[in-house]
Amino acid sequence: MAGSLFTDASKRLEKALKYVAISDDAGERLKYPKTSLSVSIPVRMDDGSLKIFPGYRVRYDDTRGPGKGGVRYHPNVTMDEVQSLAFWMTFKCALLNLPFGGAKGGITLNPKELSRAELERLSRGYIEAIADFIGPDVDILAPDVYTNEMMMGWMMDQYSIIRRKISPAVVTGKPVTMGGSQGRNTATGTGAFFIMQAMLPKFDRYPENTTVAVQGFGNAGMVVAECLYQEGYKVVAISDSQGGIYNEQGVDIPAAIDYKQHNRSLAGMYCDQTLCDLGDNQQLSNAELLALDVDVLIPAALENQLTADNADQVKARYIFEVANGPTTSGADDILVSKGIYVFPDILVNAGGVTVSYFEWVQNRSGLYWSAKEVNDRLKEKMVEEAEQVWHIAQDLEVSVRTAAYIHALNRLSEAMDAKGTRD
Ligand code: GLU
Repeated sequence: MAGSLFTDASKRLEKALKYVAISDDAGERLKYPKTSLSVSIPVRMDDGSLKIFPGYRVRYDDTRGPGKGGVRYHPNVTMDEVQSLAFWMTFKCALLNLPFGGAKGGITLNPKELSRAELERLSRGYIEAIADFIGPDVDILAPDVYTNEMMMGWMMDQYSIIRRKISPAVVTGKPVTMGGSQGRNTATGTGAFFIMQAMLPKFDRYPENTTVAVQGFGNAGMVVAECLYQEGYKVVAISDSQGGIYNEQGVDIPAAIDYKQHNRSLAGMYCDQTLCDLGDNQQLSNAELLALDVDVLIPAALENQLTADNADQVKARYIFEVANGPTTSGADDILVSKGIYVFPDILVNAGGVTVSYFEWVQNRSGLYWSAKEVNDRLKEKMVEEAEQVWHIAQDLEVSVRTAAYIHALNRLSEAMDAKGTRD
């Protein structure tokens, strides 16, 4: 893909702007991030040496409320990526009608190379560096790729130490014992499953006649695969960064989860027949998975997986983007011309931030909800917004992605115009 990730991400906004009665001022403001911070985080390593890690936080827009978005730990994190992710969060929060703007953070490192103690010092160091930039009413953190509830707990604790008051609402996705919400851990995958359950029957697609391939077997991919498996869908392929497995009769997902948890990767499961009684597992590369002849493809890993170079090979009829930004704008054009329905990231993976919002509300009210209450509210919200997006797509004859941006833009522009430009 030529150019930056952000340049490509912005093309979706340009497409949707044509359909929205938005003032020139609001349209112009949405093309730029509101504020960005770059920091260097010194970490004392276990061997006594000092290492410096680059970190970022971008608050893209906060017209509709405090910035909201996760923190990513990954070797490929750059300011361009964090800004793109913050841009997507802005539209995601507006789409789900959450009272938040969009933000994102990240640290450039391979977390698999750090010990637990080093990761704790790094997470606390990140908060030291960005403490004046965040806050429960300013900018609220959460997990993302390679970060988890343990790290969120450290971050909230460090922020509370700095502020000298317990501040649970500055971070969501915390352990339940530290004010986390029931169901937050599984919310991204469960939310995506709710969207699929609501949308697939529109095409006469039901569990018994639908095959699925899932790329990515982290927190989100694993949960969505599990939900689909339990519902009776045939998940014929799964993969992680090390490669994947294919089984024509359906992969035994509970066995795969067990395998991944014990071996940290799926590599090797294809030849471990003790873990699968459903016939032969075959080895599969990530590239092969994306081109499989299945009904539904779920990219649940990283951005830029479906590009202008491989979109032509996609055989699935429906794509549900559980990852953020898995499809480039060049790929989008090819997929749409092939009649493939792409249900976009800002809708499909919004379950995570929706339950983050529930967690923030619970932290501020001090009243905690049951898992059932969280999941019922999540389903209601996800399905309601998905139906509205679907109707916009039908009425205006636009792609589901453009419809999702139009829906979010309507809310954003209304708020921006109500506020005025203060110039
Ligand atoms: N990292 C998740 C996302 O990209 C969740 C963000 C949040 O909960 O704030 O949507």
